[in-house]
Amino acid sequence: MMSGNAIERYSPLSILPGIGTKKAALFAKLGLSTIQDLLYFFPRDYEDWSERHSLQEALDGQWLTVEATVAREPTVQRKGRLTIVRARLEQEGAVVTAIWFNQPWIKDQLQIGEVYVFHGQAERKGRFFNLQNPAYLLKDKIDFLFRPIYPLTQGLTQRDIRLAVTAALKRLRIGELEPLPASLRKENKLCTLEYALQNIHYPNNRHDILVSRERLGFDELFLLQMGLRLIKKRHQDKHLSPQISLDAKIEDKLQNWLQTLPFQLTADQNQAIADLRRDLEQEKSMNRLIQGDVGSGKTVVAAYAMALTAWSGYQSVFMAPTSILAEQHYETLSTLYANTGLNLALLTGAVKKSERTAILAGLAKGTINILIGTHAVLEETVKYNNLGLCITDEQHRFGVDQRASLGDFSGNDFFPHMLVMSATPIPRTLALIIYGDLDITMIREKPPGRVPVATYTAREKDRSRVEKLMRRRIEQNEQIYVVCPMIEDSSEQDLESATGVYNYLSQTVFPEQKVALLHGRLTAKAKSTIMESFGQGKIDILVTTTVIEVGVDNPQATMMVIENAERFGLAQLHQLRGRIGRGEKESLCVLMSETTDTKARQRLTALCLTNDGFVLAEEDLKLRGPGEFFGIRQHGLPEFKIVNLYEDKELILKTSRAADKLLQEDPDLTAVENRRLLPFIKRRLTTNWEPVL
Ligand code: ADP
Ligand code: MG
Repeated sequence: MMSGNAIERYSPLSILPGIGTKKAALFAKLGLSTIQDLLYFFPRDYEDWSERHSLQEALDGQWLTVEATVAREPTVQRKGRLTIVRARLEQEGAVVTAIWFNQPWIKDQLQIGEVYVFHGQAERKGRFFNLQNPAYLLKDKIDFLFRPIYPLTQGLTQRDIRLAVTAALKRLRIGELEPLPASLRKENKLCTLEYALQNIHYPNNRHDILVSRERLGFDELFLLQMGLRLIKKRHQDKHLSPQISLDAKIEDKLQNWLQTLPFQLTADQNQAIADLRRDLEQEKSMNRLIQGDVGSGKTVVAAYAMALTAWSGYQSVFMAPTSILAEQHYETLSTLYANTGLNLALLTGAVKKSERTAILAGLAKGTINILIGTHAVLEETVKYNNLGLCITDEQHRFGVDQRASLGDFSGNDFFPHMLVMSATPIPRTLALIIYGDLDITMIREKPPGRVPVATYTAREKDRSRVEKLMRRRIEQNEQIYVVCPMIEDSSEQDLESATGVYNYLSQTVFPEQKVALLHGRLTAKAKSTIMESFGQGKIDILVTTTVIEVGVDNPQATMMVIENAERFGLAQLHQLRGRIGRGEKESLCVLMSETTDTKARQRLTALCLTNDGFVLAEEDLKLRGPGEFFGIRQHGLPEFKIVNLYEDKELILKTSRAADKLLQEDPDLTAVENRRLLPFIKRRLTTNWEPVL
């Protein structure tokens, strides 16, 4: 036998009394195998035993905690497979009947004449009350005020978990596991870990629960944020990038180039450019995210950075998530760089072998300044001469792992500066978490003269009116998108629904007009041919699945009809709508839906009310809840047990400030009191993250 009462955080649960292999297996079903797992298994609710109620004043439906005597021998009644135990309880002359179903042993447990405390919900029966299935304990045995209620699994009872937790709390020396230095705790008015763990399970009052949750939530966020900051720092310390700076000649060239643009940059675009220039000049690798709503003009900002990089003698690569987008960026950039002498190339899966060979040679020699493409640019065979800048567009389509690996193909002994651009606005507080390893620039302002897209919902009965509106647009030489939803992973069915809409429109409604169908099953070549015709105005109506979701730019397209709009998420609808409203004419977006689902209706209404992606992002987070918002997991972040990323904005900001402050004072966490933090931070990051620590 082990002598020790001492247990460790990683001790298996079987070290606790009453937990054998069978029970341990049940605990494992809840994901609990160590003492630490158990203590971080938080109650989903509490029974409030802190007051004692008088039966005289009981109300129907009220949760009661009553001290009462068992007055007579309880009775047992059998009704088929059901056993019912009834006990008459007395309290100062008042009477209540306690009823338990299928727990015949209770009859023998209750002692006549003993005083117990019963906890259950009152149910009025005529002049009397029943208590159904009340929990009870001998009055003298009660040493808590609130009792935890845990999520259960078949075969495991509240009692099993409570006993285990109580034993673990008693025997583990929690004080030794405190990660936070006392000064930090004091500054942030936090209780100790020991207090928090005791009180999250067995609080003495509601306030204790809040205090404990605040502390444990602080840990969840703070350790993660520290980790992300350290990853960023290590990354920067490890990887040196070329210092891309401006001499007067390059400055002149850039100024001249800006003069050739058909518009003036907005203040936000100028700010973004200033951020980039500052970053590129550093030897430290840039790691920046530009967040800008659809149509906010991110491309020209990227173009500026790539021109600057090229004129300083380095190559850039610009990556898009789809070949359609890559091609479009290639077109756009070719126009933007018209008389600059910069040499661009496009590399996608559709590029022919001979052409590819030529591009690879140009990249290796350094004659190509800027490469635009899809993932194809990341393949090992692609060797650069001196890659200085790597830009990823529409970043949310690339996973976090890809983001992490982007820089590994330097092609030189330095590391390219990294810039990611996202058109999916994320509320600032959430961005602090999801992009905690990046610096963030926001482009909020849209170029002047943009007319917001008028957005309406419509039902099937309105369809002929919608078709009339479509006809009018076509008569004015404008173009229309009709978007069909993805149906749960089944591209077969997607195609079917899109094909159905296409047949209907091309044969029945608009036989005279040019209608085309675009979907994911087409070859890259077929897709780009269609997009090209659409761009040239040769197609009136483009029926499409969500392949056009991101980035496509055709200012002549001024109307969009979205079928089964309830099937799309809010962010996705906003992205789709961003394909129109790109010119001076007022655009129209019609959301077709028959849904009666409240949340879906709220999403559609939100879109009708605003064109501001940041406002919609907040709304989305509110409607969906943070768990589903983009899927925190998808972003490769560890889970949160306490923190609600939507509701706990204050805490996110507080922990963020605390992390900044601590790292400013002690950048490498070498001070004696801070050293213990590192292992805790590493552990917080281990879900999906390969900690670079
Ligand atoms: P996004 O941020 O969605 O990538 P784009 O870079 O595609 O946006 O820009 C959308 C449109 O706005 C393009 O047609 C672009 O030429 C135009 N644009 C960009 N900046 C400005 C500006 N400062 N003034 C006017 N139009 C602009
Ligand atoms: Mg774009």
